[in-house]
Amino acid sequence: MAENRLEDVNHQQTEQVEVVDVPYGLPREVKYCTKCIISNQRPLAKKSEFKHNSNSATETIDFDETGVCAACRYHEKKTNQIDWQEREKLLWDLCDKYRKSDGSHDCIVSGSGGKDSVMVAHLLKYKYKMNPLTVTWAPHMYTEVGWRNMQHWIGAGFDNILFHPNGKVHKLLTKLAFENLLHPFQPFILGQKNLAPKIAAKFDIPLVFYGEPGVDYGDPGNDGAQRKKHYHTGADYDKMCLGGVPIKELIEKHGASMTDLKAYLPIDPEEYDQKGIQVHYLGWYVKWDPQEAYYYAVEHIGFEANTERTEGSYSKYSSIDDKSDPFHYYTQLVKFGIGRATYDAAQECRNNKITREEAVALVKKFDQEFPKKYFQDFLDYLGITEGRFLECIEKFRNKNLWEFADGTWKLKKPVWVEKRNDE
Ligand SMILES: [Zn+2]
Repeated sequence: MAENRLEDVNHQQTEQVEVVDVPYGLPREVKYCTKCIISNQRPLAKKSEFKHNSNSATETIDFDETGVCAACRYHEKKTNQIDWQEREKLLWDLCDKYRKSDGSHDCIVSGSGGKDSVMVAHLLKYKYKMNPLTVTWAPHMYTEVGWRNMQHWIGAGFDNILFHPNGKVHKLLTKLAFENLLHPFQPFILGQKNLAPKIAAKFDIPLVFYGEPGVDYGDPGNDGAQRKKHYHTGADYDKMCLGGVPIKELIEKHGASMTDLKAYLPIDPEEYDQKGIQVHYLGWYVKWDPQEAYYYAVEHIGFEANTERTEGSYSKYSSIDDKSDPFHYYTQLVKFGIGRATYDAAQECRNNKITREEAVALVKKFDQEFPKKYFQDFLDYLGITEGRFLECIEKFRNKNLWEFADGTWKLKKPVWVEKRNDE
């Protein structure tokens, strides 16, 4: 007995001595929000999307001293403290200021035809009597249901500019982003983020709307109606990277030209000011609930959910328009221990659709499922083999979170265990 105990102690000591590197500038100790299950490894996307490599410090979701995440705190405020009538009045004032009566567009709605952008555009047009021009950065590979929803959206009475980036360049950047950052969605995210303000400038429609403010950042505050200018602007191209490669190197070594890359780069801050561009969140003015947005989209445009659940989760209606989308979530699982079911369950838990216990069970069941359905399409898109795919996955696997045991990779501290017996 005593010997066993000694062995245990020795075992613990060896474990403690063996310090694993913490990649991506994440917190070493994993914590889960006591309300919604999101972990403190959750990265926040900001301007750092242009960063050089995957090891620069990552800003992560904030937790308070009681172990509650910023998104949950903001949700409480949304429910109990914000005067939504007052906020809606501010929205009417804003719309009154920009509304046009000569038939021209008076605002831009950035969106994919998913439930949130559908609701934003529909409310603005039919409730607030605006005339929105909707703007879409095309997915890498449309799913059938995604394309049908896009048609339903336009069919419900909206003009749309569907921007397809140069296919050759988009493939190159996506491949580089996968191989250099294990972030295949980085070029898409940058392109999408930068498109609406540029279209706004081009067509002289300065008022731009998005859906909900990034709730993970916590309370956007009383001046949080607008997305900050610096998020959408930039002129210092020498310091920017795409797919983890400096712009200069993309031109010199990868055969890209500045013209090819322009679509991904932000609008110049001077032009942004000159044109008086303002990017607002509709979700700051009206109370936002993702599931309600889904019901709204079904009712008003005939939005279709999938017939089967999304791989890696249990949901059927979020982010279903791009065949490569599951790999965005899968790479997040490898790097941050957070898969798609975690995002879905955390959000539903926060919005009181499911309990925390149910959320934990859903994460345990689905979060680590490998997305097989479009795997070959994804490999073909990138032009890589399965072997190369796996090589990149293992190169970026976060060893602070994962351990290899019984012939497979397992999370050291999954949400369904939270504390290991030896802690
Ligand atoms: Zn939370």
